[in-house]
Amino acid sequence: MPKKVKEYRIPTMDEFRAFPTSRKYIVINQKTNDSHTFYRKDLVTVSAFNGEHWQAKIKDIRVEMNEHGERPQNIWIMIQWFHRKADLQGESFHSDLAINELVLSIEEEIIDGSCIESDEIIYYFDDAPPYQHQAIPQGALFWRWTIEPKAKQQEQEEGEGKGKGKGKGKGKGKGRKKGKGKGRAKGKEDKGTYQIINQITNCPLCAKPYNPNCDAQRFCRFCNAWHDVLCLNASGLAPESDGIPAQVKRETDLSSWGPQLYLDVFLDILRRPIRRGKNDGIVGDGLLVSRAWEMFEESKESHEGRVTDTQWMYMGINQRTLEGWRVESTVMLEEEYYDCPTCRSQGQSGFL
Ligand SMILES: [Zn+2]
Ligand SMILES: [Zn+2]
Repeated sequence: MPKKVKEYRIPTMDEFRAFPTSRKYIVINQKTNDSHTFYRKDLVTVSAFNGEHWQAKIKDIRVEMNEHGERPQNIWIMIQWFHRKADLQGESFHSDLAINELVLSIEEEIIDGSCIESDEIIYYFDDAPPYQHQAIPQGALFWRWTIEPKAKQQEQEEGEGKGKGKGKGKGKGKGRKKGKGKGRAKGKEDKGTYQIINQITNCPLCAKPYNPNCDAQRFCRFCNAWHDVLCLNASGLAPESDGIPAQVKRETDLSSWGPQLYLDVFLDILRRPIRRGKNDGIVGDGLLVSRAWEMFEESKESHEGRVTDTQWMYMGINQRTLEGWRVESTVMLEEEYYDCPTCRSQGQSGFL
């Protein structure tokens, strides 16, 4: 018995690092005989003993050989956990998280390889302007931020600030003391135990991050920023009431292009505000509208006002999607455009 217990002891980080590393880890399902190969950087589901499932990212795979070094005895995996919104109650960024959003923690842990159950589709979302190239289906799990424990950050700051790399023992004590003081000064900002280490994209009007469930946003192509529709409404600038603004009409004039298939739909896409959030999805329509703009500029310059077949393909549009747009674009005509407050504050003019 004691021996068995010993075998199942999770190795320390130092022990783990002493084991030979492996590029991959193959799991064979005893019932179905199916096999699955996991690699470093894979995002996976881990099953806990209590039947719960967690998401994690594989950092390293190590093989513990048996006493005689003949065959593998255990496979150990170093992982980073993904936290769900529900796990992060009380954190300052909790309300910024979408329901299906996960947050990756930089903390590393070693787990038994047999806990890894399957690979998991977790989409990465880069919410920075202008737009992300990969769409994220509604209801899918996604992540954009990485977090670290606050204490760790304070230690690092302390270390860097003093220029003493390895004075860990002393640094720790001091770091904590200082950290507390700082925490009080910062007040509300400082609640919770984690902080996001990524650059966060904020709405220029309210300086808050984007929550895809709650915030409908518009992208301004002129100042390259996403704005909350709520903030646009609150900014006091009335949306254009008589449909498409004259500036947009002028800039997207296709009247000299001559009759072409789908030109009306193309025009509708060009004139469409770039949106994301709520019903428009996490990523939104930025990719399509921006590609239409690229094609538009290219067609004006090099194709004498014609959209070529290659361009349609580049845009990812086939006949069916265009029909889809035709239906959508009738709804779009009732869209309101906003006179961009960010552009206006810089003495420029832009519609979004
Ligand atoms: Zn805002
Ligand atoms: Zn703008």
